[in-house]
Amino acid sequence: MAWDFQTDPQFQQKLDWVRRFVDEELIPLEPIMGDFSAEQWRDAQEPLKQQVKDQGLWACHLEKELGGQGMGQLPLALMNLITGRCPYAQEIFGNMAPDSGNAELLAEGGTEAQKEKWLWPNLRGEIRSSFAITEPWVAGTDPTQIQSTAVLDGDEWVINGRKWMITNASRSDFIIFMLVTDPDAELHRRCSMIVVEKGTPGMDIFRDIPTMHHPNSEYGEHGNHAEIILDNVRVPKENLIGERGGGFILSQVRLGPGRIHHATRWIGEAERAYDMLCERTLSRASFGKAYAKHGMVQEYIADSRIELETAKLLTLKAAWTMDQLGHLGARSEIAMAKVYNAKVLYQVIDRALQVHGSLGYSCDMPLEMMYRSARMAPLVDGANEVHKISIARAELKRYEAVEGWPSEHIPSRREAALQRFAHLLDTAS
Ligand SMILES: Cc1cc2nc3c(=O)[nH]c(=O)nc-3n(C[C@H](O)[C@H](O)[C@H](O)COP(=O)(O)OP(=O)(O)OC[C@H]3O[C@@H](n4cnc5c(N)ncnc54)[C@H](O)[C@@H]3O)c2cc1C
Repeated sequence: MAWDFQTDPQFQQKLDWVRRFVDEELIPLEPIMGDFSAEQWRDAQEPLKQQVKDQGLWACHLEKELGGQGMGQLPLALMNLITGRCPYAQEIFGNMAPDSGNAELLAEGGTEAQKEKWLWPNLRGEIRSSFAITEPWVAGTDPTQIQSTAVLDGDEWVINGRKWMITNASRSDFIIFMLVTDPDAELHRRCSMIVVEKGTPGMDIFRDIPTMHHPNSEYGEHGNHAEIILDNVRVPKENLIGERGGGFILSQVRLGPGRIHHATRWIGEAERAYDMLCERTLSRASFGKAYAKHGMVQEYIADSRIELETAKLLTLKAAWTMDQLGHLGARSEIAMAKVYNAKVLYQVIDRALQVHGSLGYSCDMPLEMMYRSARMAPLVDGANEVHKISIARAELKRYEAVEGWPSEHIPSRREAALQRFAHLLDTAS
């Protein structure tokens, strides 16, 4: 299949606008983000969101009938490469996780009543949501081990269990839980997705877990990750999303696109660290010359640029493949971009921090926070190791085992060549 690298000139104008908007309107707010109350931040966002809407760039990940732009993955990736430069740009552009994935999930699997109750208000920004798979006692990388259960009792699901690391749960209006509803079914048909609304008796969102990224945040802050106990929580049976036992199939709808969106934004973030790296190398000198003239620093710059370009190509290819074949057809490409970009994000930030010396280590630069946050990349959205396993499996499908010597064994090939091409040697002599 041909692959076209050109960006439509009209869309390029939009991308230029996004770049100016992110650099001139959003990033300058960063140093006073901690001073905003929740209400002040909501008010401050409104005119910014309106500018995005006026440009026709609101909720670009969603189809038109869901209030999005239906632009496809490739243009969206080109945008995310830029919005990734600013940690709250996704909120301003209406494609913030976990709400973005939950909207896709409800759009795919929700009934009309569920869409009315949760999807449309969520898309209008009136209510917020979370998505809960991970549990403390079993490996999150292998969700077939999920232990939390939902048992149908008359017209209600009765839910028991424990979830943790659930992003934004302490401030969400509803949470979509992955729960075992059919323990005796085949492994990937055991779980279903069920919505529990805020304030439902028995659901105790008892703490926000301090993390490397946010070691000191207070309960209920945006971006926190909560631990939840579910103790005989009762919800109507209509809160089941999609079919009973269909949790794993539905989760693919959500997780595939989510992975590529994150992986693309990581490049934007790494580009910002790269800008800091280059600026610093030109601005400071040692041993009689600018850092930029020291060979090892030049290597930092060259390695970072090569990695960033490689990451971009991998990611745009994955986005393009999704547009051609859907996210299941692009599984390997998405996995490669996820694994590689996680590494690049970390490495580029690390080099930028190193070149800033003690200033980089200090909280006077954003690099230390970016560095702490970047550590999550190889383990969230599926651990890198697990993605590598699936890449290797897909790759090996293109090969077959051989009996005896390998196909490239030179003596065997020479023998075959002598037999096949003997006439050529005869002619030569
Ligand atoms: C910042 C953050 C936000 C999160 N938000 C959410 C959320 O909103 N909702 C939610 O449900 N979850 C969330 N999570 C949880 C996340 O999805 C899990 O941490 C992730 O799935 C890994 O599961 P685990 O932590 O149980 O690690 P484990 O499954 O115990 O894996 C730990 C490590 O073991 C190794 N490993 C495991 N399996 C293999 C294998 N097959 N081969 C080789 N090595 C392997 C890998 O090194 C892996 O990193 C979040 C996590 C973080 C850090």
